[in-house]
Amino acid sequence: MPPDIVGLLTLQERDQRLQELRKELERIPREQDLARERLATRQQAVDEAKAVMQENEVAIKGVELDVGTRRESITRLRQQQFETRKNEEYKALGVKVSHYSDEIDGLETRELELMERGDQLRSSLTEAETNYSTTKGGVDEEVATLQKRADNFSRETNSLEDERKQLLVGMDDSMISIYERLLKLRGAPVVVQITGERQCLGCHVKATPTTMVQVQTGKELVNCENCGRILYPQ
Ligand SMILES: [Zn+2]
Repeated sequence: MPPDIVGLLTLQERDQRLQELRKELERIPREQDLARERLATRQQAVDEAKAVMQENEVAIKGVELDVGTRRESITRLRQQQFETRKNEEYKALGVKVSHYSDEIDGLETRELELMERGDQLRSSLTEAETNYSTTKGGVDEEVATLQKRADNFSRETNSLEDERKQLLVGMDDSMISIYERLLKLRGAPVVVQITGERQCLGCHVKATPTTMVQVQTGKELVNCENCGRILYPQ
């Protein structure tokens, strides 16, 4: 085995771990966003329940106002009845009074219905709020745990990158550039074994006997003729 292979394998070990860490560091924020979206859905349910309840309260106030104006009209009509001396007019005013009284009955029935609906809406809101706080507890914990993991991974990444720089010192530049080009193209591992049956463990294609001999002689870096990965013997 050419001595360079040992250095490359040590470097590759770091690069494989770095590759894993970078994937994790990309994935974690997405997971955190998904957790936050779950909470946003719960918040939306609370907001909607509140809005419907407020609408219902406004409707109740409206009905109460309508009842009030009709009561005032009745009082005014009764006063007019009291003051009139004409029988016809007295009767006509009485018809108006009973018309408003009927309307008040209808409005009061409507108010009762709205109040009952208000009770249902209030319990829906309570349920939505309970769901929100339960979800919030879980989501906060999940986001924090993921953050801790991401922080650890970032620290590990930094220290591996330092180690990597140290490893590069004294290594052959042209070999490093071949290695890095392959790493960019294929992702780790790019330094792979060739089996006794001449199979490249990177692409699983069988190499030629010439390639096998070159690898076994161990005087130079040999690339798999199919995938280009750097080969070393088992
Ligand atoms: Zn190959």
